[in-house]
Amino acid sequence: VRLEHLIARDGPVCVWCGRQLWRCDLTAEHLLPRSQRGRGQPENLAVACRACNRQRRTTGVAAFARAASAAGRQPRIDLLRGALVRLAASPLPSHARYAERQLELLARLEAR
Ligand SMILES: [Zn+2]
Repeated sequence: VRLEHLIARDGPVCVWCGRQLWRCDLTAEHLLPRSQRGRGQPENLAVACRACNRQRRTTGVAAFARAASAAGRQPRIDLLRGALVRLAASPLPSHARYAERQLELLARLEAR
């Protein structure tokens, strides 16, 4: 999947810090990390800046959103929730299970 397609779908915005950036500063972020059997299908990808992508490594989506928020950044919970809802509909069970769990954790985060 080309980054351009993700930017057209989600906007030129990092999901973790909320900054709008030029294309050269943006990357395709795997929601379920590749090391945890996350694949490159569009439903498993979101737009993130290089700095956040590098910093996140394999931290869970909800946990990293919480960490980013605690660090004074403004994670786009709306985009993350939308991305996880899309991922939950994935035909790949590993994708869908991960998304369902992260949606639960994200809802708890928002309730605080
Ligand atoms: Zn960022």
